Amino acid sequence: MTSDRNFDARETSKSILARKEELSLKKQQRADLVRQQLAKLYPDPPIPLDHNDDFTLLVAVLLSAQCTDKKVNEVTPELFRRGPTPALMTQLGEAEILSIIRPLGLSNQKAKNVAKLSEIIVNDFGGEIPRTFEGLESLPGVGHKTASVVMAQAFGVPAFPVDTHIHRLAQRWGLTSGKNVVETERDLKKLFPESSWNELHLQIIFYGREHCTARGCDGTKCGLCVELYPRRKKPVVWIKP
Ligand code: SF4
Repeated sequence: MTSDRNFDARETSKSILARKEELSLKKQQRADLVRQQLAKLYPDPPIPLDHNDDFTLLVAVLLSAQCTDKKVNEVTPELFRRGPTPALMTQLGEAEILSIIRPLGLSNQKAKNVAKLSEIIVNDFGGEIPRTFEGLESLPGVGHKTASVVMAQAFGVPAFPVDTHIHRLAQRWGLTSGKNVVETERDLKKLFPESSWNELHLQIIFYGREHCTARGCDGTKCGLCVELYPRRKKPVVWIKP
């Protein structure tokens, strides 16, 4: 997973405008088609970050910023063995946390955040992970996307965490012209039933990783894009990302 908000989306206006004439399906029809196809492809999508409980999920999601889930899963077994609870993670301390997570990008800042967040959970939340967006987002290193993942995956609360994969695909599938993840999240929540959000977020991520990377596609490769844009005649040149 990647960082939280407000990354550039220069693809938006140009490519969406350029594709207007290709759109024969209405936006809601495209959304319904996407949901149906992804449900067939990924009927029961697993949570990609290894964890043992809500605390370790929160830490794993925080560590995954600017980093692949695979790399996070390589360091968390040892981290969670030594610091399985907020109290024990606090005792571990920033330096020891850093020594374990050093292979990850931004490891200094992440070690600081994990140590501080664990201490705050012990001191201010009685050792329990807050179950609200507000509470989660008050913790160091926890932005709206991280809080959304935890609300969805740990507590089953409908949320639609938008990362770079979801932002890119939502644009390429013509479901949003949002300039940032906040706008994309708003648009996707309107298009998909609330009961589908938590699964759909994972399904889109899996699809994006498997098929739709930042570069290397002209919009004609997958059957899904062909179905979504039946009148597409020319390959598309994506501007960003
Ligand atoms: S055709 Fe290309 S742009 Fe469309 S979903 Fe497939 S990989 Fe992505």
